[in-house]
Amino acid sequence: MLIFSAMSRKLYSLRMHATCEGGHLSGAERLAVGEELEGLAAALVRRALGHPKGTADAIRLTVEALSSAEVRTGRLPDLRTVAVADWRAGRAAALRYLVEAGVSRGAAREAMEALARGAAPGGGSMRGAMLIDAESGARLEPDPARGVRVSRMDLSPKARAELQQKLGALGIDNAHVREALVLAAKVLLVPGIVAELCWSDDPDYTTGYVATPTAGYVRFTELKPLGEERGGRAFFLKRDGRDLGAVIEFLERAPLLIDEIGDLGGVTVWEG
Ligand code: AMP
Repeated sequence: MLIFSAMSRKLYSLRMHATCEGGHLSGAERLAVGEELEGLAAALVRRALGHPKGTADAIRLTVEALSSAEVRTGRLPDLRTVAVADWRAGRAAALRYLVEAGVSRGAAREAMEALARGAAPGGGSMRGAMLIDAESGARLEPDPARGVRVSRMDLSPKARAELQQKLGALGIDNAHVREALVLAAKVLLVPGIVAELCWSDDPDYTTGYVATPTAGYVRFTELKPLGEERGGRAFFLKRDGRDLGAVIEFLERAPLLIDEIGDLGGVTVWEG
């Protein structure tokens, strides 16, 4: 494995986006040094071609050099798990965490309903996330089919190895958890974002999470029924006069390299 320092080696952003029948199928975001790009690009093409929702009919890879001065470093949120009996209990538990984080009950409910019916116009999956006013529940993202795509973030090789080892000990070392932790770390850096809600659009993966600045990354063992292809993400923003353009610019463009992992562990059983 290559050891690099964001400050001393040229870092590239590698992004993959795959579509099937014109809709979003799969996406991925990595940061890497030059020697790693070929292997990573091949792995991302393989991933797009093996997606459980279908076979890609277009795959776009984008590679861009980043200036080392713009790469900031950060830490993953702490992770814990709430074990729930089924997806309905999971959504009730997730709702409580969202409300505790400062999201209005109405906004949290509307976001869940949007994810359940497919948040893109016409009911499909969005490529990115909904950006939601935490009080009114209004959708703020400029393009509701695309959403806001969080990009240009990854783990350093050392943090990745440590994370894999620790997640492995908990029996949850998979790409869903690793990538979602990194994404949530970036989302939680945005001033005004009080929570994120996610469940996957992968029909075989029913675990979802709520991430908040105080609770960290909280997994719910079930947030949707098995076989359900609709999923997505919602970022809840306390607007307080904030410049939406700056929020979106940070999420989509500011490079973030995670070099420190958070505390991992702790399972609680949800009793309603
Ligand atoms: P996944 O966890 O990869 O199954 O993604 C579930 C959903 O989350 C996708 O359908 C998108 O709507 C959204 N999503 C995935 N990756 C991102 C990202 N980098 N930024 C924003 N939203 C994303």
